[in-house]
Amino acid sequence: KMANETLKAQLGNAAWKLFHTILARYPDKPSQQERTTLEQYIRLFAQVYPCGDCARHFQGLLAKYPPQTGSRKTAAIWGCDIHNKVNDRLGKAQYDCTTILEDYDCGCGDDEKLKDD
Ligand code: FAD
Repeated sequence: KMANETLKAQLGNAAWKLFHTILARYPDKPSQQERTTLEQYIRLFAQVYPCGDCARHFQGLLAKYPPQTGSRKTAAIWGCDIHNKVNDRLGKAQYDCTTILEDYDCGCGDDEKLKDD
């Protein structure tokens, strides 16, 4: 069995990957329903995240820095900034958020164009 720290880091990598990719694919001009859905998703994510210590700290961060759901760009930058708060607490380097949308291209392109990958 792998060391607990390795497992916790792998879980973090996978969780952050999905988190940032969802934000990078969020609508440019979300409806009120889409905004509510994203906000709830993020808050529920913070409640079910399986590392209890992480979940508790992340809930504290959400209380201080509420999810920004007004547009794709603001949501993605908010997500990058909050991950940087976690990085800060763990003594990790700050991530450059200027190319966050390009960094988390999901490979799904514009669904309506039905392009091949
Ligand atoms: P990670 O932080 O996992 O990042 C993965 C990759 O994402 C990086 O290699 C980089 O390419 C990119 N990246 C880095 N920063 C950003 C950013 N700001 N925006 C976008 N992309 C970025 N671990 C603990 O020990 N204690 C905790 O309290 C804790 N809380 C967590 C809370 C949440 C919600 C999550 C998802 C994870 C938490 N973790 C916690 C795990 C921790 O954040 C890392 O995932 C883990 O330490 C592995 O770090 P890493 O250096 O591999 O990079």
